[in-house]
Amino acid sequence: MSSRRRWAAIAATAALTAGLLTHPGVSSAAPTAPAAGAAITVVPDETALVRFRLPDEAAFHALVASGADVATRPRTTTGQVLADVVVTPAELTALTARGAVPVQVVQTASDAARRLGEGRGTTRALAEDTLQFLQSYWWTSNGRTFLQTQVATTASDDPDVEITVTWTTADGTTGSYPLYRVEDAGEYQYHVQVPQRLPAKPVKVSATSSLGGQSRVITPTAWPGSTPPALPSGYQKDFVDAYMTPTDIKARIQRLGRQYRSLVDVVDLPNRTQGYRRTAAAYLGDPAAAAVVVESVKFGDQGLNGVQVRTVDPGRANRPLSATYRDRVLTISLATDAGGKVISTTDDVAAFISARYPQRFRAFVEDGSAGAPMPVTGPARLDDGLQGTEVTTKPWTVQALRIGAVRDGSKVGVLAYSQEHAREWATPLVTLEFAERLLANYATDPQTRELLDSVEVFVIPTVNPDGANYSFHDFNFQRKNLVNHCTGAARDPALRDSWGVDVNRNYTVGSFFDGYVGASANCLSGAYAGTAELSEAESGNVIALARANPNIKYSLNVHSYGGYFMWSPGSYKAAGRVTLPRPSIDESKYFQDSARRIVGAIAASRGTVTWPAYTGPVADVLYSAAGNSADQLYYELGITAWNFEVGNDLWNEDTQQWEGVGFQPPYDEAHAESQEYADGLIELVRIARDSSAATR
Ligand SMILES: [Zn+2]
Repeated sequence: MSSRRRWAAIAATAALTAGLLTHPGVSSAAPTAPAAGAAITVVPDETALVRFRLPDEAAFHALVASGADVATRPRTTTGQVLADVVVTPAELTALTARGAVPVQVVQTASDAARRLGEGRGTTRALAEDTLQFLQSYWWTSNGRTFLQTQVATTASDDPDVEITVTWTTADGTTGSYPLYRVEDAGEYQYHVQVPQRLPAKPVKVSATSSLGGQSRVITPTAWPGSTPPALPSGYQKDFVDAYMTPTDIKARIQRLGRQYRSLVDVVDLPNRTQGYRRTAAAYLGDPAAAAVVVESVKFGDQGLNGVQVRTVDPGRANRPLSATYRDRVLTISLATDAGGKVISTTDDVAAFISARYPQRFRAFVEDGSAGAPMPVTGPARLDDGLQGTEVTTKPWTVQALRIGAVRDGSKVGVLAYSQEHAREWATPLVTLEFAERLLANYATDPQTRELLDSVEVFVIPTVNPDGANYSFHDFNFQRKNLVNHCTGAARDPALRDSWGVDVNRNYTVGSFFDGYVGASANCLSGAYAGTAELSEAESGNVIALARANPNIKYSLNVHSYGGYFMWSPGSYKAAGRVTLPRPSIDESKYFQDSARRIVGAIAASRGTVTWPAYTGPVADVLYSAAGNSADQLYYELGITAWNFEVGNDLWNEDTQQWEGVGFQPPYDEAHAESQEYADGLIELVRIARDSSAATR
């Protein structure tokens, strides 16, 4: 790049209007669609890297021949002739006069100087982009060394920039790998790559770009750089030995309450859930041909399972639609014409049933059967379709464990809650293991005693027991609760596995209802936000517990899977990707420092290291999750609120790949997750203890 010639100088002319260049990434138009009238300008004495659209290929060659400082020829799928040229204001004017259309200010010299900072030679040739390491961390896991890096380029609007990271170990071994570009909601974020397996600890890394950009050479930092205190001999752990259904969890809660009376209260949360229950439904007719769905208004277990429904031909002319309900059989006598021919349609029958028996049945036309002649059919048997025969159908009382030597709200409180999402089977194992370790070790371990003497711990092992029952017994990928807010044809029993509300999109802050991204109004969506904020018993319970106990200052929302450790903001609005307010610098540092303690505690169990690129605000490291619980706890109740995604990817040494573990891994993996993340939760209790000691 230093060989590049300065373009033929043209006498500097009067400054063009300034302003746009102060925020080039925001104000410059996209290369393929320059905003009408959005003039691209360069301030006096400034030099800028500007992307131009040229009239034709000949113009490009003329530009090169003239000695213009052409940085690159961006690839374009539309066949437009683009060129990125380093220009002064006068050069910009001259080029524009020759028919080149400036479409983007990629970067300015002052921009680069600011980012490079002090100590950088001003005589150095201008690179087309500047690279900055946002993260550069190394660690060892089970004897293997890994490196993860995040780099930002100032050429943030150029999707074709390629960035390569080069590492060097102490003995001079070197290697490199490419990063990939991360864009979110149309906004450039950074370039990143999954952790790379290295032969030894890296002592330096640097990055280069396809635009000629070069980062400073830096020394990677050890991650997470924190080790928990050693456990005393005789410390008791490993209290889970199988996946646990809500029934198992309830039994465990009762047992802990009895066994450790002086240390724990079992708290019934105020909102009972719907229960593991559904309305009973049947297809009246053949859904492949013509059918009406008949559904009970009450739940199937309330005496409606087994009710039969049929249509009959009255066998006489000029009969209206009519019905009888007798001995648990609903008989619909179809309408006939003057010739005695049946003339009822599916629409007629559905509307008739709903109007005639509003307290007992509702009916709708199966999708695709509208207007079809109603067949003589049945009897069909209404059923709720639930397979879990051993499960109580009663509304469920969700319970929390309140743990501590002093349980009067005078000690700082920590809340751990899990299984908002039904299918995340490993998560209650984490919180129950955590709870029982505290209880079992209090009598013998001075460290545990000190923690429970100074902190109150609240644990909700399963926030969403109804969905969990459905996940265990009916559809393992069930994420939501069992409340069906769908209407009309969306209530077709064929869609049963898509019903329910995403509990962790049903909270009040940064919600779908507030216009934030990452939840849906579609009742069949996996991220359905519900009918209103806190419309669901499950979400209401979490908030009720937090509100009732204002001493709670820390929380951890335990999900699976993927290996993330996250905090607020958890969502943004699409236009401009405007997140909920960012924590202050001090607060962000506290989040990050505490996170490293917790990540270090997890790593001490079996070497599982949560990636630095997966440690940060939800909206940045995962996705926007409108209306999630942690954001309400943080913004509304002032709680330092974190989120786990347990179940980190595992390194496969044979394939040299990271492999995901899933929602319901083989039990041995779930067990390992329960052990390591319980360690992480105990570190959170230490953090709470430390903070309350500091403020005493
Ligand atoms: Zn989840």
